Amino acid sequence: MVDERIAIYPGSFDPLTLGHDDIVRRSLRLVDQVIVAIAATTTHDKNPDFSLDERVELISEVYGDEPRVQVVPFEGLLVNFARANGARLIVRGLRAVSDFEYEFQMALMNRSLWPEIEVIFMAPASSYTFLSSSLVREVARLGGDVSGFVPPPVLRELARVYGSAVAGT
Ligand code: ADP
Repeated sequence: MVDERIAIYPGSFDPLTLGHDDIVRRSLRLVDQVIVAIAATTTHDKNPDFSLDERVELISEVYGDEPRVQVVPFEGLLVNFARANGARLIVRGLRAVSDFEYEFQMALMNRSLWPEIEVIFMAPASSYTFLSSSLVREVARLGGDVSGFVPPPVLRELARVYGSAVAGT
């Protein structure tokens, strides 16, 4: 039993968007600490823009001024990672009905793997409901301006990889 309320916010975060950031900041209103858990392996994207180490470094920079956010890579079962970190809460973002089925299945599977775990779903600000990492990647790869969709350190790195047009300059 731990006194601190710790939530795990898992994902691939390739890259972290303002939608993800919105969920992190909402979570901080509910818990003492948020662990942004970056999946080492993901079934979604076999061709990531940023390596695991780059994502850990970049997201740590985004939350450099927020000691209540930790950024940690993880591998294997999420419930094992949660248990090892004294967290019984998983946070996931829900943008649309299309997210629901997969998220619901995952939540019930995780609970059957570890009955102590609770999953909470949070809705982002409505202006971020259309936002996804894959869309940001696609627009950046094509040289579009993504400055309204990602935090400054992420924008800097996308501009380094894809050119200054992605930063709107
Ligand atoms: P995963 O590969 O596990 O879906 P993502 O990095 O794409 O990882 O997303 C991590 C979590 O953040 C998921 O719960 C996803 O639904 C949520 N999320 C992604 N984009 C947004 C957004 N724009 N607003 C709110 N939640 C989001």
